[in-house]
Amino acid sequence: MGRYGPRSLGVRLILALLVPLAALEVFLWFHVRGESFSTRLSSYLVMFVAGISGLVLLALVLRSVLRPLSQLVRVSRQVSDGELHVAPAPLAGPSDLRVVTKAFNEMVAALQAYQSQIDRLAEGDTAIDHTLPGPLGDTLRRSVSHLATVTEQLHASEAAATVQARTDPLTGLGNRTAALDELGNIAAVARASGTQGAMVFLDLDGFKSVNDTQGHAEGDRILRVIAQRLRAACPLHLVARNGGDEFIVLAQSVVSLDAAIALGHELVAVVARPCTGTSGQVFALSASAGVVMIDGTREPLDVMARADSAVCHAKELGLGRVEPFDERLSGVIEERGQMALTMRQGLADGEFSLQLQPIIDIATKQPVGAEALLRWSRPGMTDIGPNEFIPIAERTGLIVDLETWVLEQAVGILRDWRLDPITSRMRLAVNISGRHIIDGNLVGLLSDLCTRASVDPRLLDLEITETHLVADIGRARAVVDDLRLQGVHVAIDDFGTGYSSMTYLHQLTVDTLKVDQVFVAGMCDDRLDRTIVELLLRLGDSLGMRVVAEGVDSEDKLTLLHELGCHWAQGYFIARPMGVPEVTLWLRQQAALADSLV
Ligand code: C2E
Ligand code: MG
Ligand code: MG
Repeated sequence: MGRYGPRSLGVRLILALLVPLAALEVFLWFHVRGESFSTRLSSYLVMFVAGISGLVLLALVLRSVLRPLSQLVRVSRQVSDGELHVAPAPLAGPSDLRVVTKAFNEMVAALQAYQSQIDRLAEGDTAIDHTLPGPLGDTLRRSVSHLATVTEQLHASEAAATVQARTDPLTGLGNRTAALDELGNIAAVARASGTQGAMVFLDLDGFKSVNDTQGHAEGDRILRVIAQRLRAACPLHLVARNGGDEFIVLAQSVVSLDAAIALGHELVAVVARPCTGTSGQVFALSASAGVVMIDGTREPLDVMARADSAVCHAKELGLGRVEPFDERLSGVIEERGQMALTMRQGLADGEFSLQLQPIIDIATKQPVGAEALLRWSRPGMTDIGPNEFIPIAERTGLIVDLETWVLEQAVGILRDWRLDPITSRMRLAVNISGRHIIDGNLVGLLSDLCTRASVDPRLLDLEITETHLVADIGRARAVVDDLRLQGVHVAIDDFGTGYSSMTYLHQLTVDTLKVDQVFVAGMCDDRLDRTIVELLLRLGDSLGMRVVAEGVDSEDKLTLLHELGCHWAQGYFIARPMGVPEVTLWLRQQAALADSLV
């Protein structure tokens, strides 16, 4: 009990009463000293009774004050310890004490109200208590209402982001993620109710040539028209764009495979309706379709892979066809999946390596660098060439991991080359899949790798082929622009073979054109090939791009390329792809040789 506690107060009161009583007694004792014994005794008795009554009265008064006071102290202790869930202190004792106790109880009730508002807030409930008293209540209300607004905005932007993440920006249809989710839902319903759903995978036939001849803006417009038609034709089904010119229609419930195939034919007919271009010309597009039943026994990705195989099969058989998935096709999927798994394991086990093929400046014969070519050597098995495993890595998405590894190695090689004045000026070209450009984070990856290894990104050339760029040329352009801002050089590989090479020159700003080796192969014997090479060289010159000829496997080709003004060359005549130490040595020796000839 503290210095100012009720007990010390009681003791003080008792002392305060006893001291005057004792003084009175002493006074009386002196006063009645000369009186008779009986007078003195009766005086004492009176005094004694008066004293006892005073004491009893005092005790009663003290009790009526001290009890409520001690309860108030107990409750206030709990409150000051942070315990707000206390019963109100009872209203008792003198009126002043009642007033204090009542005020105290009201204060505790206010604190309890603040506390419960804060508790609700902690649970994410932003409902405002309008009864909170005082300025603190106002502040709390303002804070809660501010928080409620912020939370609402956050929820709204989260919801928008979720919708965006599931929407194809070009057509407004669902995207691949939305299709995979819906596949999961249909499978769950099929499992629960024994019904069957169906997936129709549509791939436009020859859409690439629309892009090539009409330009990407017109291509995008046509994709939007087709998307609208499909949506109108299937108001009850989910229609999604898988990317590029591929669409997916998911039907929740179909009675049979025949009904699903009939739906496929209907959709192919919808696409085949003539479509008028912006300049009035009429296109007749067609689509092929693959059909798969959804019975809930397979994972969404598996169903997607089956539909993909079915549509590829349909295309192999001719245009505008509808083919159901056939179990015989599952062998192809399994083989591809198995190969991707083996590749992933091979990457972890160090089965991949790089070979470098030197590139020279034709005019000076000086080596200028090399191109990195990926190799996969599986122990006890024949090697598989990149032309075989790269397309599988692209289809399965493994390409991003694979090329991340290639880029790490390439930056490591450039870092080692920095130690020698001759190799420090050599460039390294790396092949990058269009799929990696669109799906990966090349800009961040390269900036990270080059910064960590203190390598100048201007020594890197990224060679891209156009195969996958068509899926999202807008994104490809943004990535290529960012890479070039970093200083990385970008080349279009195998230039001249793809239908859309020329169109890509409009869409992408690049530094280098690599003339495809098919033209170089025939240039000395075939007038057409020679003319094409000449044209490509002139094109490169007029656009201020460097032109590199690949597949230079004879002296006469190198001589002719020199006469035609080609800048750089690579090929078996100059050097075959070699291991890193051999190429490093070759570059040093050739540089020294070329110097000595000057
Ligand atoms: P590419 O980038 O056009 O590479 C040139 C290919 O031509 C290489 O084949 C090379 O060995 C071959 N070659 C070089 N000189 C001659 C010659 O004088 N005559 C003939 N007939 N061929 C020559 P490789 O190494 O089999 O690569 C084939 C393709 O695989 C490459 O073509 C490239 O598109 C792709 N590739 C290789 N590594 C990677 C990679 O890391 N990522 C990606 N996405 N693709 C890669
Ligand atoms: Mg290349
Ligand atoms: Mg090439």
